[in-house]
Amino acid sequence: MSKKVFPVSQQQLEKIIEKYPTPFHIYDEKAIRLNMRRLFKAFAWAPGFREYYAVKALPNPRILQILREEGAGADCSSLPELILSEKAGITGERIMLTSNDTPADEFQKAIELGAIINLDDISHIEYLEQNAGLPKIMSFRYNPGSIVGGNDIIGKPEEAKYGLTRKQLFKAYKIMQQKGVGRFGLHTMVISNELNDNAFVATAKMMFKLAVDLKNQLGISLEFINLGGGIGIPYRPEEHEVNLEAVGQGIERVYKEILVPAGLDSTEIAFESGRAITGPYGYLVATVLHEKKTYKDYIGLDASMANLMRPGMYGAYHHIVVVGKEDKPCTKIYDITGSLCENCDKFAINRNLPEIQIGDRVVIFDTGAHGHSMGFNYNGKLRSAELLLREDGEVELIRRAETMTDYFATLTGFSGSIM
Ligand SMILES: *Cc1c(COP(=O)(O)O)cnc(C)c1O
Repeated sequence: MSKKVFPVSQQQLEKIIEKYPTPFHIYDEKAIRLNMRRLFKAFAWAPGFREYYAVKALPNPRILQILREEGAGADCSSLPELILSEKAGITGERIMLTSNDTPADEFQKAIELGAIINLDDISHIEYLEQNAGLPKIMSFRYNPGSIVGGNDIIGKPEEAKYGLTRKQLFKAYKIMQQKGVGRFGLHTMVISNELNDNAFVATAKMMFKLAVDLKNQLGISLEFINLGGGIGIPYRPEEHEVNLEAVGQGIERVYKEILVPAGLDSTEIAFESGRAITGPYGYLVATVLHEKKTYKDYIGLDASMANLMRPGMYGAYHHIVVVGKEDKPCTKIYDITGSLCENCDKFAINRNLPEIQIGDRVVIFDTGAHGHSMGFNYNGKLRSAELLLREDGEVELIRRAETMTDYFATLTGFSGSIM
């Protein structure tokens, strides 16, 4: 069971809303820091353990700074993400570029930063060399194909656009050796929002065996093996969180079983986890604007799918609490909606909740990853503010809400005046 408790009192929340109107996302600094420490502790046995935080999950430089202070690097997949990481003080090989269908300017920036480049395809070797030059250290993304099951979010590996096949992988490392590159890493990401501890150990096992094969066939001693992101979080209260300590121990076991006897005992383990680092420590706060009763009972919020896309896009569950009614019985069944002209704009369907009144504050849980960052402007919806609940209890604005001026700013060729 995962407890769903909003770390702000009702009274404090009303004070925050006086200054920053709803909707907004608010992130819990203390919890994020403690969680980051927990991951490092679970892998304290691993030489040079690294976490490259997946910037796309929560691309706010203030958050990246906090994570950097806790020892994290950054996993980037676009030019703005590289720049955000750089500005947050994450530099050199603490940045990993894991992108696909990569444009030249991303490669150029990664080379300029001295970041680790993780190539998604064998054809990208030539593209990289021509457009940006070759780095000193090279990593490749492995796609194991049908030997791994996949799931709804990430899909089946053989249907996934990412990574190189095993055969291509061996060829790619060989090409790089011939080109004089001497330092290597290996990467995969085959699971997403996975809650089963064993899945991570199984991935590690597959990758460690591959590392031994690479050593035997090509004489490569990998500097690091990046096991990707995909550590899940319990979105539903009845789900269990991943036991990071058990995952750490399980991976240690296969490390000693497979890598150490092969002489690969200094291979560093890396993750590029996003969701599991910040996901549970973000909350979308909204206000109830309307109640509509037709064939169903609808509660309309001032937030919409533009603020949190996961329920509409994946049918994902996000826990919802009505502030001040946490202990009231859930006697009602509601659809909780936003205002987009899309029927999938629902935060919850047929959700049991206490009786809701107009003006009630609603907290939607687990928005600290793939929440605000997946926001969009469809239907003229503006992206919300992001707040940080600091360790000292103060609330800091770390991104203001968009205004209509922002929304209109990119328009050209129109002869009238909009604002
Ligand atoms: C999205 C992504 C991640 C992060 O995934 P989480 O589910 O947030 O852990 C890591 N690596 C790559 C390559 C990704 O695409």
